[in-house]
Amino acid sequence: MMKRLLCIFSLGLALVLGCLAEQEEEFMEQTVVIFKPDAMAQGRVGAILQRFEEMHFRIAGIKMMQLDEAILRKHYSHLTDKPFFGDIVEFMSSTPVVVMVLEGDNVVEEVREMTGVTDSKLAAKGTIRGDFGRDKSQNMIHASDSVEGAQAEVARFFKPKELFPNKSSLTE
Ligand code: ADP
Repeated sequence: MMKRLLCIFSLGLALVLGCLAEQEEEFMEQTVVIFKPDAMAQGRVGAILQRFEEMHFRIAGIKMMQLDEAILRKHYSHLTDKPFFGDIVEFMSSTPVVVMVLEGDNVVEEVREMTGVTDSKLAAKGTIRGDFGRDKSQNMIHASDSVEGAQAEVARFFKPKELFPNKSSLTE
């Protein structure tokens, strides 16, 4: 009887621990990075990606996309009433771009820090925009600005089957 109870208890414990581990995996923080047309044209994708890999952020999804006005209106909804919105659409849809989901602890804030401020001319040296960007418009990459924003952007650009969670990593 005692043995059977112990067995049931151990099974229950294993189940709870398994669920907890899975939950932890589900909540791994993610951010969206878009390599803008200037990064594509100037061949900066590799150099920028290397910076993220050196920080040990993991690629959970990556693909090329041709962005159109409809998706850009959603993505830049906070800017649609600005006089330069037409220029953003023209620039961001001028060539295909690489869109990527990175994951890791505190990835949203750290990638924003690595990116630098919007205007490349004002961005600090050592940041991506400070090192490679030209101005406010040609600033190399987009990076999500909050955890909630990142979740919406992941859903905007990726289907669930295009994402590969941590457990499928070859290093495990
Ligand atoms: P960030 O990309 O730094 O999060 P915003 O969300 O304010 O900045 O703006 C989104 C993008 O819109 C910028 O990265 C830039 O490409 C473009 N943009 C913002 N402000 C301007 C501007 N004054 N002139 C031209 N493009 C701009």
